[in-house]
Amino acid sequence: MLLAATVRSQVNPEICRYPLGMTGGQIQDEDISASSQWSESTAAKFGRLDFDNGDGDGAWCPDIMAEPDGLKEYLQVDLRSLHFITLVGTQGRHADGMGNEFAQRYRIKYSRDGSNWVGWHDRKGRQVIEGNRNAYDVVLKDLEPPIIARFIRFMPVTDHSMFVCMRVELYGCEWLDGLVSYSIPDGHQMIYRGLDVYFNDSVYDGASAESSSVHSFTKLTKGLGQLTDGTWGLDDFLHSHIYGMWPGYDYVGWSNKSIPKGYVEMTFEFDHVRNFTSMKVHCNNMFSRGVRMFRQATCYFRSESDWESDPVSFRPTVDRVSQSARFVTVPLGDRTASAIKCRFHFSDLWMLFSEVAFQSGSAVYNTSLTPRKHGHPTNILPGDDPTHKVDDSNTRILIGCLVAIIAILSAIIVIILWRQVWQKMLEKASRRLLDDELTARLAVQTQAFSFLHSSLSTESSSTTNSTYERIFPLCSDYQEPSRLIRKLPEFAQSTEQLGPSTSCRALAAGGSDSAPHYAEADIISLQESSDSSTYSITAVNMNLFAGTDSSMREFPRNKLTFKEKLGEGQFGEVHLCEAEGMQDFLEEDLSIEGNNESPLLVAVKTLREDANKNARNDFLKEIRIMSRLRDPNIVRLLAVCVDTDPLCMITEYMENGDLNQFLCNLRLKEAADEDKTGQEDKQDKSMVSYSKLIGMAVQIASGMKYLSSLNFVHRDLATRNCLVGKNYTIKIADFGMSRNLYRGDYYRIQGRAVLPIRWMSWESILLGKFTMASDVWAFGVTLWEILTLCKKQPYSQLSDEQVIENTGEFFRDQGKQVYLPKPPCCPDRVYNDLMLSCWRRNAKQRPSFQEIHSRLMESLA
Ligand code: AMP
Repeated sequence: MLLAATVRSQVNPEICRYPLGMTGGQIQDEDISASSQWSESTAAKFGRLDFDNGDGDGAWCPDIMAEPDGLKEYLQVDLRSLHFITLVGTQGRHADGMGNEFAQRYRIKYSRDGSNWVGWHDRKGRQVIEGNRNAYDVVLKDLEPPIIARFIRFMPVTDHSMFVCMRVELYGCEWLDGLVSYSIPDGHQMIYRGLDVYFNDSVYDGASAESSSVHSFTKLTKGLGQLTDGTWGLDDFLHSHIYGMWPGYDYVGWSNKSIPKGYVEMTFEFDHVRNFTSMKVHCNNMFSRGVRMFRQATCYFRSESDWESDPVSFRPTVDRVSQSARFVTVPLGDRTASAIKCRFHFSDLWMLFSEVAFQSGSAVYNTSLTPRKHGHPTNILPGDDPTHKVDDSNTRILIGCLVAIIAILSAIIVIILWRQVWQKMLEKASRRLLDDELTARLAVQTQAFSFLHSSLSTESSSTTNSTYERIFPLCSDYQEPSRLIRKLPEFAQSTEQLGPSTSCRALAAGGSDSAPHYAEADIISLQESSDSSTYSITAVNMNLFAGTDSSMREFPRNKLTFKEKLGEGQFGEVHLCEAEGMQDFLEEDLSIEGNNESPLLVAVKTLREDANKNARNDFLKEIRIMSRLRDPNIVRLLAVCVDTDPLCMITEYMENGDLNQFLCNLRLKEAADEDKTGQEDKQDKSMVSYSKLIGMAVQIASGMKYLSSLNFVHRDLATRNCLVGKNYTIKIADFGMSRNLYRGDYYRIQGRAVLPIRWMSWESILLGKFTMASDVWAFGVTLWEILTLCKKQPYSQLSDEQVIENTGEFFRDQGKQVYLPKPPCCPDRVYNDLMLSCWRRNAKQRPSFQEIHSRLMESLA
């Protein structure tokens, strides 16, 4: 009980480390706000660390591209009262393998009143905090110095416009002192045996101004600092608790010589009127070096506008024996005030303080106090033990009861917190166990797959003749892997045994035939949320085009003249149109190089009229993503027509259509022929040289390099999703899959999940994990397509079911996996060093797009 009472009297940062309610849900949604959000499902309220509130996409994600410098985005938490915050935790967004956004670095701002904001910095002045390295792990950072505030802002620091998402928690305890600021003369500098000793308040967060009085000094006002940072100085003031700080760091100290009045005056402002029992001042007492605790403290009180004329004075016992630093308790006589001004009188050359704390509040302390005589100073002298005044038996019983109640409540809170932590640990452990179990399961059952390997390795297998329903109306490149994965025995079995873990649900892909969704549960929850949502299309439109993204303008529909149908995609048809006045309409940076014709030829992608709400939202999201991508190898969105139906996106026209069809119609020019003429035969448009093919791959790698610089995962890289313009210009298009960047669901068509399994990495198929490394895998397949001139589908000798089974072999990595063969024109070096490296089992060992780009460039040289 005594311990509890002591802890309550001043904050102990080592104990004050309780989660403040982001994780546990005690902080209400309305108290979590943000500068912006990418979408409704990544709003501020989803920025809770390790917390699943169901309907969101797993984190707060700012609309960071709206602010290219990314410096103004923040997630704000209102704690409703002042708190002492010692620790912060951050986490990224993984959405069970679907997300990969996190803040590598961030800054913190805080405010006590909601209007004055202070940027936090550590004791060495560094503002930027190293954050997360992946989307999963929680990274905890001690705040040194701690923060006393009600409002906290987490501000991700990004280079240019990388996507970031955050989940956060704050740790600390309520700031019971109620101290909002103190004003003091800043500390002085001592020279001790030739050593500079600085006693300034180095973490003070208020204002500092030179005093205009005769004896000029720096006055610190309206802030808190070292006197409230919970760190007490050592006996020897030359040393510090904190490694690497300068001599005298722990103390704020004043020289008697520099203050002719003979006392240091400090003013303490509180959040509201309180009854003050005592003040504790941590003083150094190294009298052998001219430092002693104060001789006398005289405190004045102010409840309203004026200082009361009757101060409380206190003289501590002079200690001539011990040189230890200590807390000196100044009794404050249970005075009522919202501000206290104390004068601390010197008793030696120097006076050094490291902490000041107040005890106030409880009215019970009043009951036995001798009534204070107003108008007369209450002098409490050494030997007058003020606690005697509160020492009657009733008060003691009352205090005892209160302390007991507090102890019981604390025990209950600890049990509740412990249970929560325990549950979380169990969940994590079970998730890990499930992964391990899966690994083990797959490993032991290799025997069952030997038949598969033999069938895969015989090239004589029949061509694809899937017994599975083809859902994608146009293209067999997309499959519904849930059905196929169920054919893997270990996955079928694990469906029953793995239980309700979401990632395993994604793996198991549902058990009932009637609901053929991949990651079924996620889709169902998504549908529930969108059905019940008030998220109307108008709202989405406003959200998309409001604010800073003014470059994406509405184009007058009547100025589009239909020329021909270019193709048909998932959303609807793509038409070639003439756009009257498009060049004038475009902003400078959007004008299309070398094409000043008017009307301009453009491609217009239209959302089919009968599209449901989800498809409309997805279409608008694709617009939103494309509108912010600016790269010579990414197809440009020029304008939109979204005011009325049908919704349209207008993109630059790529006259040679998609790369798959383009290459399919070409033949490879023999190297010998190329050498003979020394240049391309420009007349024969049906021939293409190896170097031209690599040139195309270089352009794709360059576009992907740009996307990966934004931490942007395309998810559907393939030749069919690249477009060809004049002079073999290649641009990446089709962001249909990546628009789900912040969606926990998978690509769906008419409620079903279809995925391009032949381009997908093993971890994307089996674990539902889409990352930059899985895009690299798809690039390897795309490169293979290019070098085979798209004459065959990848793994054409394998059925869809066998492709999935081969994926299992990639996972097991026992040398039984089948790789795409080396295309005849592909040099060994390109195949072995580049193509095969894209399909490494360990995603971390795959090259980055930066590396791929340079290697391809080198191979051209
Ligand atoms: P998508 O819906 O994006 O898959 O487009 C369907 C088809 O329309 C593509 O395969 C291309 O053949 C054609 N297409 C789409 N966009 C363009 C464009 N900007 N320029 C030329 N053809 C396009």
